[in-house]
Amino acid sequence: MTRDPLQVLNEIFGYPAFRGRQAEVIDHVLLGGSALVLMPTGGGKSLCYQVPALCRSGVALVISPLIALMRDQVEALRQVGVRAVVYNSTLRSDEKSQVRAAALSGKLDLLYVAPETLNTEFFSDFARRLSLSLIAVDEAHCVSQWGHDFRPDYLEIAKLRALHPQVPLLALTATADPMTREEIRVRLGLDSDPVFSSSFDRPNIRYEITQRQEARRQLLDFIRTRHWGEAGIVYCLSRRKAEETAEWLGTQGVLALPYHAGLDSQVRQTHQDRFLREEGLVICATIAFGMGIDKPDVRFVAHIDLPKSIESYYQETGRAGRDGQPAEAWMVYGLGDVVSQRRMIEQSEATEEWKRLSQRKLASLLALCESVSCRRQGLLSYFGEDHPGQCGSCDNCLHPPRAFDGTELGRKALSAVARTEQRFGAGHLIDILRGLHTDKIDRNGHDRLSVFGIGKDQDEKRWSSVFRQLTATGFLDVEAEFGAFRLNRRSWELLRAQTSLLLREDDTPPRKERTKQKRAEKSLKPLHAVVSASGQPGLFEALRALRRRLAEEQGLPPYVVFHDSTLREMVQRQPRSLAELAQVPGVGKVKLERYGAAFLREIQQSVGVDDRSTGATL
Ligand code: ADP
Ligand code: ZN
Repeated sequence: MTRDPLQVLNEIFGYPAFRGRQAEVIDHVLLGGSALVLMPTGGGKSLCYQVPALCRSGVALVISPLIALMRDQVEALRQVGVRAVVYNSTLRSDEKSQVRAAALSGKLDLLYVAPETLNTEFFSDFARRLSLSLIAVDEAHCVSQWGHDFRPDYLEIAKLRALHPQVPLLALTATADPMTREEIRVRLGLDSDPVFSSSFDRPNIRYEITQRQEARRQLLDFIRTRHWGEAGIVYCLSRRKAEETAEWLGTQGVLALPYHAGLDSQVRQTHQDRFLREEGLVICATIAFGMGIDKPDVRFVAHIDLPKSIESYYQETGRAGRDGQPAEAWMVYGLGDVVSQRRMIEQSEATEEWKRLSQRKLASLLALCESVSCRRQGLLSYFGEDHPGQCGSCDNCLHPPRAFDGTELGRKALSAVARTEQRFGAGHLIDILRGLHTDKIDRNGHDRLSVFGIGKDQDEKRWSSVFRQLTATGFLDVEAEFGAFRLNRRSWELLRAQTSLLLREDDTPPRKERTKQKRAEKSLKPLHAVVSASGQPGLFEALRALRRRLAEEQGLPPYVVFHDSTLREMVQRQPRSLAELAQVPGVGKVKLERYGAAFLREIQQSVGVDDRSTGATL
């Protein structure tokens, strides 16, 4: 017996239509087919197996690598009335046998298991007896040894599949590089099955990469003007910086907590739980944070240090806006980042091959940072996808930066490196170019060099920008031990006038401009809170408060009750009956029964009050 997938989507999940390639994948599975599904984070992978699980008879086995992730997914399913449970090592043995009994007697729709559970004799005996609707392998890249999250237990999935050769298998991942993709297909026996691949673009994320002046101030400005009271992640390079940033934000009135591998595991867990359960909390973290964080309403991801590669940058920024609502990826970086990342690679104990690869990856990221064209196009082209550019939603598209011929400036900077025997870093070289009499200059007799003072006409900021861009675009190397600049083949090409240099004008608008910009940014605010501004002021907040109360009573994160997007729709539509409320996307049958009356009451109360106060009529 099969049920109609669209009906399941409407009635149970409360959504009007499938997105992207969901319908194709689901139809394929309902005909008994297996497949590999590649979709970006937030692309809607879960429904690809959850809907068929409810359409086909039998229980769906979902293999997922993270216990926290499983728990959240199962909670969300139970909220819409789906019979889902988790089976993993945290259960007591009586709980386990209850789950097994329910699964065997057909009382479950989805059974979530951790990969290490598969690896037991006991489980395979049990699995053999199950009547399965499908097997779903979430985060399927964990089966790949090339990938970054290899989990040996994932190799057991092949055995499981051998027990149930007729059952459709769906492997899902957001990691798209071709090597990983092929390995997943081979290891899971999907060689002859189709691959459903979607664009990796995240259209609701706006990208901005800007020059570091005072990182903290810039961060605070960014949060204040664009994301006040919203949830976000701030990525830092070191544990200490993560802690200091959280503490400092706290003194500025931002609710912020640190997260890094050096914290006590209890503290780490608490901070993560608070991030999931509270609204508007900012986490300042190292890269230890984020894997398996399924929070849909992260409104921004900020990098106050340069990541290591475009892969890391894309993965980290991808944690913003899973719910499809507007979100921002914002980064500051400067010359210091370039020098320190280059040195870190050179100083590492790794093989030469690894160093070369790491330098190459860093170079791609730096090229993206210094680029004057559409960031989205640059990002997607790195992943082998064509995008026409002009996305209208990145800093370069919104405020096209000016480029200028920097050949002369570049040559002067490189000459300073050459004349001082490649022994110094930017600070000293800039002083020489600007003709300053510092101790270091006098001591070394550098005021007698031909390059002394040849760059008087430019200020320090401009020279720092020149050195940054020279280093970022490969016209200068950085020596490992002291971070001194070294000339390379390209430097000599520029010095010998065999090539020219195009530089990006750093955007340091004068004060007046900056106020204007701030005002403009403020006017962006409604982008994120669009409905609370256009609909009933305050109603959105009232609904959020109600949601928070209902979630707290059940010990759940608020977004499990309703997503922000659903609340916004409620504000916009102002339903007056349960039937009207049922039309709002995200309101399925069970949630309507559970929460419908409470939300309707809240809407009617707020609308009534506002009408009297504004004198409007309905
Ligand atoms: P992924 O696992 O690919 O990162 P999810 O399955 O968590 O993405 O889906 C991301 C968000 O999009 C979820 O909040 C989900 O409810 C929503 N979503 C997915 N498919 C649809 C759809 N067809 N209509 C409306 N919302 C959807
Ligand atoms: Zn763009």
